Amino acid sequence: MTIIDGNKIASDIIAELKAEVAALPGRKPCIALVRVGDDPASVSYVRKKEKTAEEIGITSRVILPPVSISHAELTKLIEELNQDDSVDGILVQSPMPKQIDELVIFRTISPEKDIDGLGTMNLGKVAQDDETGFVSCTPAGIMTLLSRSQVDLKGKHVVVIGRSLLVGKPVALLALQKKAGANGTVTVCHSATADLPAIARQADVLIAAIGRPEFVTADMVKPGAVVIDVGVNRVPDSTRKTGYRLTGDVHFPTVSTIAGKITPVPGGVGPMTVAMLMKNTVKAYHLRQTQRG
Ligand code: NAP
Repeated sequence: MTIIDGNKIASDIIAELKAEVAALPGRKPCIALVRVGDDPASVSYVRKKEKTAEEIGITSRVILPPVSISHAELTKLIEELNQDDSVDGILVQSPMPKQIDELVIFRTISPEKDIDGLGTMNLGKVAQDDETGFVSCTPAGIMTLLSRSQVDLKGKHVVVIGRSLLVGKPVALLALQKKAGANGTVTVCHSATADLPAIARQADVLIAAIGRPEFVTADMVKPGAVVIDVGVNRVPDSTRKTGYRLTGDVHFPTVSTIAGKITPVPGGVGPMTVAMLMKNTVKAYHLRQTQRG
């Protein structure tokens, strides 16, 4: 069994981006990070994104509207960032407060600054195998983990558990694409799937994006399969200072004994998400420079 080291692969990508950004003449890429309110997980995610941008040499602008911001006010803020020539990429951290319609906000970000890839245009480009758009960061991170771990999906049965817009659906589309590294035969499972364990057991590559701690157990995994655990779940743990520990959607202690390759939690998909956001920011910068001529 091989552990797929997301920390190592992400830090390789960050080093590559750092060298690329250092070589850029003049203005550096700029990311706008919008965080509405003080959700603790969002505070830590945005801080990590800001720190990683700084490490690479990407300028970041952190905007912290109050949790009471109206949908119309947030829309106006995004429209101003769309018009701001010094901003290459815009990320609005999810989850947003109840009065905000996230999907509408994602669609408001102009497609050429939509580095989170959650707007209609960029998700559509994934379905069209069009590489000029932005692939949302977690699915892009999963595909990069696979390719940098020499896992070619061609001829493989890829089973994705979860059909969210953020992870399950786009990663299924990416695995299905007609291009090198992809070409998988894809099955997507969800909460209404009958006999999910029997389908999971057919997977050569099993991607779990469910949000249920240790849902995937060894009896659901074919020996030798590649297992990608996207889940990040907090479970109570009185032995920890924090009172909780992080666990994935896969029961690592047992599944790791039969998997061919497996990602740990933490240290698997998580660090890749941030690295891919930075990669998308640099891509947005290049695309905008090209458009300017
Ligand atoms: P989500 O929007 O809640 O979607 C969960 C999906 O799992 C849904 O499609 C749901 O099915 C399915 N599901 C839930 N319970 C199930 C069950 N008992 N059997 C079969 N399917 C079930 O979650 P998400 O945003 O995709 O995130 C999934 C996990 O990944 C979470 O733990 C999240 O924290 C983590 N995550 C990690 C990163 C990272 O960077 N590492 C990024 C994003 C998300 P239905 O559609 O039928 O409801």
